[in-house]
Amino acid sequence: MESILQINKLLIKHFGIPKRQNPLPDPLDTLIATILSQNTNDNNSYKAFNNLKNAFADWGEAADARRSTIEKLIKVAGLAPAKSKAIKNLLVDLKAKYGKLSLDFLNGLSNEETLTKLITYDGVGVKTASCVLLFAMNKNVCPVDTHVHRTTNRIGIVNEKTPDKTFWALNSNFPDGIAHSFHTNLILLGREICKPTNPGCGVCPLKKVCKFEPKNFEMKNAKPNKRILLLDNIGI
Ligand code: SF4
Repeated sequence: MESILQINKLLIKHFGIPKRQNPLPDPLDTLIATILSQNTNDNNSYKAFNNLKNAFADWGEAADARRSTIEKLIKVAGLAPAKSKAIKNLLVDLKAKYGKLSLDFLNGLSNEETLTKLITYDGVGVKTASCVLLFAMNKNVCPVDTHVHRTTNRIGIVNEKTPDKTFWALNSNFPDGIAHSFHTNLILLGREICKPTNPGCGVCPLKKVCKFEPKNFEMKNAKPNKRILLLDNIGI
C-alpha cells in the first residue's frame, strides 16, 4: 500500500490545504445536505438545501410540512420523490424519538456506533453517514464517494470493488488528523485530473507513485474545477 501520508503531502503540494467551514456546520444540516447531494452536483444540492432552509423557520416546521411540499422545494437536486421521503421520515422520526430536531443523541458514541445509527435511516448509506462524522463532527474519517473510490484504487492504496468496501479498507488504519484534506483533495483530483475516462496522468501530482497502468498522457493542462464543496459551505 502506498503511504497515505505521502500521497496526502503530494496532494497538498498541488491543491493546498482545503479550507474548513468555521464554525463547523450543524450535524443535522450536514446530513440533510448530504442526502440532497446524492447523484447530483454541488450547485444543485446547494440550491435545494437553501430552498429548504428559506422555506421553513426550522427543521421542526419542515417535519410538519407535507412531503410533496418538500419534494417541490428540492426538485432542483433530482430524485426529489425519494429524497423528500428520506428527509421527511428522518425529521419525523427524530422528533418522535428525541423530542427535538437534532443529532445530539450521537454525542459520545464511537464512529462505528454513529455510522450504525445513521444508516438505519432510509436514504442514508455509509458515505452519507461518514460525511456527517467528518464535516460536522470533526472525526478523522474519510468518506468514500465515486471520486475517492476511483482514485484510491487507481493509486493502489486499496484494491476494492465498491465504494463501501473501499471505505472500510481505507479507514481501517487511517493516519491521524488528515481525513479532511485527503478526502477533499482526492475529490479535486478526481474532478480535475483523474477522470473516469482519460485520466490526466501527465499532469498528475501522483504520477510517480500511482500504480495505475497504462497511464494516459493526452491531457496537457488540468482545468481547475470550481473548488467549492457543498459540505464545507452549508448555510454560507
Ligand atoms: S497518475 Fe493517472 S491514474 Fe494515477 S492518480 Fe494520477 S491521473 Fe489518476
